[in-house]
Amino acid sequence: MASESSSAHTARTGEVVTRFAPSPTGFLHIGGARTALFNWLYARHHGGRALLRIEDTDRKRSTQEAIDAIIEGLDWLGLDYDAPPIFQSDRAERHAEVAWTLLKAGYAYKCFATPEELERMREEQRAQKKPLRYDGRWRDRDPSEAPEGAPFTIRLKTPDTGEVTIHDRVQGPVTVKNEEIDDYIILRADGTPTYMLAVVVDDHDMGVTHIIRGDDHLNNAFRQLPIIRAMNAIEGGWPDPVYAHIPLIHGSDGAKLSKRHGALGVEAYRDEFGILPEALFNYLLRLGWGHGDREEITREEAITLFDLNGVGKSPSRFDMKKLENLNGHYLREADDARLAALVAARIGEGADEALLTRAMPVLKVRAKNLNEVADGAAFLFAKRPLAMTEKAAQLLEGDARTILRSICNALAAQNDWTSDALEATTKALAEELGLGLGKLAQPMRAALTGTTTSPGIFDVLVLLGRDEALARLEAQAA
Ligand code: GLU
Repeated sequence: MASESSSAHTARTGEVVTRFAPSPTGFLHIGGARTALFNWLYARHHGGRALLRIEDTDRKRSTQEAIDAIIEGLDWLGLDYDAPPIFQSDRAERHAEVAWTLLKAGYAYKCFATPEELERMREEQRAQKKPLRYDGRWRDRDPSEAPEGAPFTIRLKTPDTGEVTIHDRVQGPVTVKNEEIDDYIILRADGTPTYMLAVVVDDHDMGVTHIIRGDDHLNNAFRQLPIIRAMNAIEGGWPDPVYAHIPLIHGSDGAKLSKRHGALGVEAYRDEFGILPEALFNYLLRLGWGHGDREEITREEAITLFDLNGVGKSPSRFDMKKLENLNGHYLREADDARLAALVAARIGEGADEALLTRAMPVLKVRAKNLNEVADGAAFLFAKRPLAMTEKAAQLLEGDARTILRSICNALAAQNDWTSDALEATTKALAEELGLGLGKLAQPMRAALTGTTTSPGIFDVLVLLGRDEALARLEAQAA
């Protein structure tokens, strides 16, 4: 763990240190992934360090499954970290140490109010329609007034006059009156630190210089700053961090993003929706950050271009269509062998990766996700007799089977099994029969793929190979 002096060093050298600090009470959802991305990009852009802290102090709600999913999701997105993750729960002693330092220096005090007493206080405040806030009843009392051995919490003695302005890099200047910040608990009666204390101590000890997080944490910044400033007054080397609170993501209907809108874990985008990590990376980047009207931005470009100036102030809307359009773009850019492996895993047994690799250039052209590529590839591995869709069966009605007979004979005589040669042969036959090429291609497609949509018919012939293609045509010919 970095010591206090390393933070002072950081402040001196101007190195940027960011952190992503998820609470592992759920999976890595879209909002969290975007926060992680912005932190990572900011650090990479400035040649600084990106750190990861798992905020697992809520032991009841934190699960190992969620921790694994978060780490796997970050890894999948290609967000790497410059140190192993810090687990907040490992650091309770250090958090408590800071609470006691604050107490000894007079920046915090012991509060002996019992839970029942505090409940009565709140009830009175409710009755008087006052804000529910600790009223500072032990702020100036001498602890000797408490009964011998009575349990106590440690509360921060926050300034009660004046105001604080945070120059947030996204929100601009935000001012809060000190009287609005109550003397909140930093150490519980059982000696455990509160979340508010833990975050501040960890950020300091990790040398974090820039705190980039959702704007639902903006209020917390005003509660956390008094701890930072008190510690800076006591021991120095606790500079104010730079804050950047980014607007939340909304659904396409403008409401706060929920499961209904696709606020799923990133693994759902990978597994269920067949999205490539570079597409989600690009999409999340554009969700709340912009560089002119550029939509397609690679990872390397993002590192070069990203800065907080491009982060907008209003909530962004999640749009699955846009994500799929970007995904289509990245599918076309992606290496065919890599896609073949991903698609083979989706198809499961019987998938031939080498064949998929060869087929990929024609399979991926119009696909928006890996599911569509896998569906489009199904004909390659279909077993004879081929199952026919209803529409495909219709294409085999009328004189289609007679036409297929002529096609079989013509193609069987063709020894050059290449797309160009097969096209030339088929066209010559169409002319001979006095039919349009479509009249031949349609029953061919039905016979070869069992469907009415497929890559170009001559590509299909080549990919299936001479024997399999002729066998499928024979099976439907008159
Ligand atoms: N653990 C908090 C969360 O997941 C983030 C705390 C912070 O970024 O300061 O919302």
